Amino acid sequence: KLRLDQIKKTLGNRLVLDGISLDVSQGEMICLIGASGSGKSTLLRCINLLEPLDDGAIWLDGHDIATPGLDPQPVRQKIGIVFQSYNLFPHMTALENVLLAPRRITKKSRADLMPHVGELFERFGLSQHMDQYPDQLSGGQQQRVAIVRALAMKPEIMLFDEITSALDPELVGEVLEVLKALKREGMTMILATHEMTFARDVGNRVCFLDRGRILEQGPPEQVFNTPKEPRTRDFLARVL
Ligand code: ATP
Ligand code: MG
Repeated sequence: KLRLDQIKKTLGNRLVLDGISLDVSQGEMICLIGASGSGKSTLLRCINLLEPLDDGAIWLDGHDIATPGLDPQPVRQKIGIVFQSYNLFPHMTALENVLLAPRRITKKSRADLMPHVGELFERFGLSQHMDQYPDQLSGGQQQRVAIVRALAMKPEIMLFDEITSALDPELVGEVLEVLKALKREGMTMILATHEMTFARDVGNRVCFLDRGRILEQGPPEQVFNTPKEPRTRDFLARVL
């Protein structure tokens, strides 16, 4: 479904992604773990075409979406991304934030979009908050609105970059619950995360990034319990 083939990316004079290849199956949840600076965010940004590749290909449904010069917009409809900072517009209500991109891109009216969008608010426990402004919402609620905003485009794949890192500890759980719900519904997801317990309990596959490469990958129990590479062992010893 999604296949990364030898992705390379240099930022400044640093080779940040050094030949990343990854096959992502339909409905799979892949957790990217690794030290700060290992390239997790850059990889997600490249998949969403927020950064051009220096080399390699990204195959989605039989097309190389990283072909230079292609319009990134249709790809960003198929592949949604949510960041650590929710980036909601402060002068717009939760609902207005969510409707903005679908209205612009699909040209559908609010009335046409509302059934699906209303259902998303409902599903993630946000119905009472549709008309509130971001500063009237908790961090966890804002992050859930940001996820709803990405889902409103009906993406096939979702990317999440440390979406719980900025939250107070008591709010992390409600956002992780959203990811669990999406997994149950069969969403294909790649997430960069420091939540090792979550990666172990919920992820289908864990990839350990080290200096821009996938040094080791496998089912969570294998990577966490019997890591093969010394650098994976060192990393896990530090974070677990
Ligand atoms: P973290 O866990 O801290 O989020 P990460 O694994 O997401 O780290 P990236 O943000 O992808 O790591 O960064 C990978 C490397 O790329 C880092 O060494 C970073 O300093 C470097 N880098 C990122 N953006 C730029 C830039 N615009 N110019 C130069 N170097 C950059
Ligand atoms: Mg990062």
